Amino acid sequence: MLGRYAPGTRRASGPVPVIADVGQKYMLPHFKPRDVRKCDGTVELIGVPSTESYKGQTWLGAKWIGYLGRVAEAPVSGRWFPEGDEWKFVSEDKAAFSFVKEEDLLLYDGYWGGRVYMVLAGLIWGKEEYIPNKPGDHKHCEICWATISLPDDAICYRSNKRDIVCPECYQRFVIPHSIDFIT
Ligand SMILES: [Zn+2]
Repeated sequence: MLGRYAPGTRRASGPVPVIADVGQKYMLPHFKPRDVRKCDGTVELIGVPSTESYKGQTWLGAKWIGYLGRVAEAPVSGRWFPEGDEWKFVSEDKAAFSFVKEEDLLLYDGYWGGRVYMVLAGLIWGKEEYIPNKPGDHKHCEICWATISLPDDAICYRSNKRDIVCPECYQRFVIPHSIDFIT
């Protein structure tokens, strides 16, 4: 049954490996806020990103959702706004309140940032057999987009936040907390 974890459910957390050079390894965009403003449950980080694109893809834009985070930590979601020649990242996530001025943060776009969150957040994962609500229904792995469907590809892993991944991505990325899919 969907949402019920099979026996043998394990927490794919444990200590998240600290890969000190992960930012350099991937040459990911960085964001070092020159100012951090906190008010009424919202944090605003103002500054200039190291770059606005990554591997030929635009990485942030006006009103786009994005993610900022420390190396090997689950990133925080927010939204980007132009602020003069700079960018303002606005987040209501309480984890963002710990960010401080001049802290060097990794910058992810909305698409990959959500996936990085999924593998670094220490979610609780369980193995399931996908059961469609109606014949022909299917799902996609949220990392590689592989089809999860009956009869041959029904085994999948679900997080306690309802994320769904295929067994290969579970082994390659979720278990080792790897963000190698971003390369
Ligand atoms: Zn996959």
